[in-house]
Amino acid sequence: MTNLDRETLESKINELLPKYNCGACGFKRCDLFAESILCGEDIRKCPFLLKEDFKLNFDELNNLLTENKIIVCKSTKNIDKSGNAEFIGLIDGYNADFLLDPLENEHSCRETLLITSPLAKDLKINDYIQYRPLGCPLPHFAKIIEISHGMHVIHVEGPCHRITGEKKDYINVGVAIVVAFEGVVSKGKMPEIGKTVRFIPTHCMMQKVHSGVIVEAEGNRVLIEGIDLKVW
Ligand code: SF4
Repeated sequence: MTNLDRETLESKINELLPKYNCGACGFKRCDLFAESILCGEDIRKCPFLLKEDFKLNFDELNNLLTENKIIVCKSTKNIDKSGNAEFIGLIDGYNADFLLDPLENEHSCRETLLITSPLAKDLKINDYIQYRPLGCPLPHFAKIIEISHGMHVIHVEGPCHRITGEKKDYINVGVAIVVAFEGVVSKGKMPEIGKTVRFIPTHCMMQKVHSGVIVEAEGNRVLIEGIDLKVW
């Protein structure tokens, strides 16, 4: 089901929303939220979609938006008649070269962090941490999956996952420098090694454009280093 016209797409999105009209997403009614989703609003702003009861709706919505390329479209101006969208950061309005998805069977792209807090030396694999990426206003919650040469590779777990009721002890390590991203290029042009690129990690809560340099590229998997939230 691809390239639906805007009206049909909006109505299909509306059908998949919980219809509680509770306003928790910041919109008075579900149909108003449906309209805003077409302009790039994050579906995770409806807390009910993150509950088990609405998992099928959440997955179906995600598929619908992905198939119709409405993941990060900032405004209707960026959708052409066939439903194609450019990759534009929601916060900054910059164009991105591609969207970065997690590696197969993983739920977020891998991020490598340089943690300067004294707590870093005691962190272990499987620990959960709270950190704020340098240059990002939002606190992030993550699980450590690898430690190498003093750097920590993580999967981002939230904040969205935190309202599903899961309780964990997060070690607050303060500001951390994100030095690398690893994932797969899901939409957009596959970059070459050595290129400076602009990309949007699909798990990014702010759908902000990041920049970096491709240091590994194999199939559609890429390792991007020199991450910067000031876009180059
Ligand atoms: S939070 Fe969900 S259920 Fe409530 S109005 Fe928004 S979309 Fe509808």
